[in-house]
Amino acid sequence: MPLLVMKFGGTSVADLDRIRNAAAKVKAEVDRGYDVIVIVSAMSGKTNELVGWVNETSPLYDAREYDAVVSSGENVTAGLMALTLQEMDVPARSWQGWQVPIQTTSAHSAARFVDIPRANLDMKFAEGFKVAVIAGFQGVSPEGRITTLGRGGSDTTAVAFAAAFGAERCDIYTDVDGIYTTDPRITSKARKLDKISFEEMLELASLGAKVLQTRSVELAMRYKVRLRVLSSFDETDEQSGTLVCDEDEIMESKVVSGVAYSREEAKLTLVTVEDRPGIAAAIFGPLADSGVNVDMIVQNISEKAQGSDKPVTDMTFSCPVDQVARARKALEAARDAGHINYDTLEVDEDAAKVSVVGIGMRSHAGVAARMFRALAADGVNIKVIATSEIKISVLIDRKYMELAVQALHDAFELDKAG
Ligand code: ASP
Ligand code: MG
Repeated sequence: MPLLVMKFGGTSVADLDRIRNAAAKVKAEVDRGYDVIVIVSAMSGKTNELVGWVNETSPLYDAREYDAVVSSGENVTAGLMALTLQEMDVPARSWQGWQVPIQTTSAHSAARFVDIPRANLDMKFAEGFKVAVIAGFQGVSPEGRITTLGRGGSDTTAVAFAAAFGAERCDIYTDVDGIYTTDPRITSKARKLDKISFEEMLELASLGAKVLQTRSVELAMRYKVRLRVLSSFDETDEQSGTLVCDEDEIMESKVVSGVAYSREEAKLTLVTVEDRPGIAAAIFGPLADSGVNVDMIVQNISEKAQGSDKPVTDMTFSCPVDQVARARKALEAARDAGHINYDTLEVDEDAAKVSVVGIGMRSHAGVAARMFRALAADGVNIKVIATSEIKISVLIDRKYMELAVQALHDAFELDKAG
């Protein structure tokens, strides 16, 4: 029997009416001849509420009990979804993570999949059940404790089941109707993409597009799970939404597929650090150890320190604004311990990052020049540049972020298809 995985996010199961609406979509696939594995999130807002209760009860909580509490929202929606399907005469059964069992590592609140044995579900399908409803976001550790996968983890549950059961497709039902060339709130010219490659989606997800958990895209890429993002509030058919797939399935693609942004960035510069082997490790080691997510890094040209022949340089990097205090503390501690030396730490907290992403960049020259020209034409100054094989990112003043996104969307003609 062909099998589909259908995942419903929090807004898609926010109340009983919406669960009925989602169940109707599941029934439609069953009527079309599919066995279906349904993955559900908690009702929207529920997980936040549970996290809040844990923090209020115990600020330095035991991570095992955090997972015991925070995983419970999905248990409710899984049972309700199975009941709703039964009311529609669809043979359905719900499963919590430990019942499958979804085996994970014991890294509580950030667990990873180890294995999803098929035997229990296969047996139920063989008995005539048409739908298995799985509580997303959770699993069980080798010690037999409940684990969770990190916020947004139900997406990853869905992809993992699609891989384990060889599903024809993994449909992610959410509150937007697909992946757009950029955020439609920033430009009304943003266009929904029919298809996007795993690699591009991975860049967009890591750059902050919130539609899919980054880890779910990594997993989909590794196991070549075709993922479809679509709205549970629309009438949907085979053509709906955006397909995230292997680049071989994408016939024509533009040089740039999307423009992403991240609004709350900071630029930090260590002025006059020694230019010697090991200095980068001495700076970025402590930052990493303190949990600072350093993104772009630039080492400036080396000069001789005044009155000395020792070479010195300036080191610039970016990180999220809310990590500046932590970064400052880590660097000051490293200086106090004598591991690094610098004159001053300059901090610019009014930065934003804008990126263009596209697999077409691999085979087309001049993308960076086109990007910089478009920004220059609008008088946007670039502070830091970073590139990868399929992405170019610039750090700019936050007040120009919207303008930059619009300019780049126009420059690469993303409003036009093909
Ligand atoms: N309910 C969990 C969360 O809000 C998991 C998910 O919905 O993906 O993070
Ligand atoms: Mg989500």
